[in-house]
Amino acid sequence: MTRGTALKAVPFCYDPPYPGTVPRSPAMAAAEDYRSHLPSLTYRNQAFIAGKFTAAASGKTFDCISPIDGKLLTRVAECDKEDVDRAVKAARAAFDKGVWSGVAPAYRKKIMLKWVSLIEKHKEELALLETLDMGKPIANSAGGDLPSSIRCIQWYAETCDKVYDELAPARPDSISMITREPIGVVGAVVPWNFPLLMASWKLGPALATGNSVILKPAEQSPLTAIRIAELAAEAGIPDGVLNVLPGFGETAGQALGRHMDVDMIAFTGSTEVGKYFLRYSGESNMKHIALETGGKSPNIIFADIPDMDKAAATAAGGIFYNSGQVCTAASRVIVDEKIKDQFIELVARHAEKWRPQDPLDPKTQMGSMVDEAQMDRVLSYIDIGRKEGAKIAFGGERARRNTGGYYVEPTIFTEVKNSMRIAQEEIFGPVLSTISFKDDAEAVRIANDSIYGLQANLWTRDITRAHKVARALKAGTVNINATDGGDITAPFGGYKQSGIGRDKSLHALEKYQQIKHTYIQL
Ligand code: NAP
Ligand code: MG
Repeated sequence: MTRGTALKAVPFCYDPPYPGTVPRSPAMAAAEDYRSHLPSLTYRNQAFIAGKFTAAASGKTFDCISPIDGKLLTRVAECDKEDVDRAVKAARAAFDKGVWSGVAPAYRKKIMLKWVSLIEKHKEELALLETLDMGKPIANSAGGDLPSSIRCIQWYAETCDKVYDELAPARPDSISMITREPIGVVGAVVPWNFPLLMASWKLGPALATGNSVILKPAEQSPLTAIRIAELAAEAGIPDGVLNVLPGFGETAGQALGRHMDVDMIAFTGSTEVGKYFLRYSGESNMKHIALETGGKSPNIIFADIPDMDKAAATAAGGIFYNSGQVCTAASRVIVDEKIKDQFIELVARHAEKWRPQDPLDPKTQMGSMVDEAQMDRVLSYIDIGRKEGAKIAFGGERARRNTGGYYVEPTIFTEVKNSMRIAQEEIFGPVLSTISFKDDAEAVRIANDSIYGLQANLWTRDITRAHKVARALKAGTVNINATDGGDITAPFGGYKQSGIGRDKSLHALEKYQQIKHTYIQL
């Protein structure tokens, strides 16, 4: 699959190939149905510390449930403070020995590329684990999450021996060197919506720059993280350099955030928990904190839109993709009142295609919510919207109840005011709020009236308007005539309460490094 393939409903920050085109790898085409792989699938369910699988020190486990049918997949080690201590000791020892931090960058690259090839080799298994664990359609895991995760780690591996240090333009009787050093022990705490991809956004740059990492996956989706740590060891990443601690946020996550020997936390998740990490840092060792947090992205539709049907299809994909469990979800359509009714009707027509189906069927576009709690949360927001006076134009109910899984219909609200909770709060579900505007200034004001600033989208054929509005939008990414543009080469992160720092691109390397100035008097 190459660039130039016709792309529809471009999903969240994927590198090509995109779903929508539903690419099939040879193994997938042969199997046609991933369900046939199920009997041979095994689950790694322990912590990975110092190159070995291990139970939690307490011996405790938690249930890993598939949201596809509500059934138990496996019981996973429930790591806690003691396990965090063990992992930090292993990570620090590896870092201090220089087995990774001190080797030639080209060697790091070679090992990381070997790891990439092992992930590639096991991509069918990993895609299946991802779908079973968090309920996303297999076409997305296999066609989006896996190729994008692979490309991410590969891309950062390639940076190992291609990024140079600097000399400052200092006085001629001196040499003023600016060099980059790995920061040390990095805690990566990630969410469940793109489990492997969000982990890859941290692991790629953190490992390429020579750090030791402790990854804490979300409790809802630990399986792929545990598996790729095993593959990392197989590739030759030395013991202690990559550790994975499944467990809960309040215990394992907090212990990492407060640990006196962790140098940095790279976090993706909610704004609320992001703020906890700032507090943990302030109350412990002032470790660096990089945050990728929530969003409530506006999708502004001007009346001069080039192709209304394409914009409506993209608006539907922008909120229903991954069941709306996307930080950049285009959850607020802000549409010119002149075309409002026509546009919403078109979006509703496209919503029909997003009704949830079996995630293991390769034709499925929308799967389940990640768990029962998330489904209940989304349904409660739908209730809040109704009570606030917004009207449901599509969906609004739980779906596929007889499967035992946790599904919600794609839902569209009309008559939404931007002050309503459904327009202000991140629902993280397939729920679209539509709001109308009279002129450009009002569109920008509504778009920016949010605590978030992760991404904004606008649709117009007028290039001057496009640039003026793009500049006025307070967001880390602005898409023009698209909703989720940009691959691994473009930086990604938020303004306002959507985060601190950037993932992806060369900019992401900076946060995993200390900058040292060495001055030499000649
Ligand atoms: P979350 O509840 O904030 O959890 C994220 C991670 O933090 C999980 O590993 C979680 O562990 C851990 N955690 C929870 N409470 C903690 C605590 N008190 N101390 C330390 N760690 C704690 O987010 P989520 O529900 O998994 O994911 C959805 C959120 O992620 C949304 O807000 C979404 O916008 C955001 N997101 C942002 C981006 C981005 O790049 N900006 C990308 C994807 C998602 P447990 O799972 O064990 O609770
Ligand atoms: Mg799960």
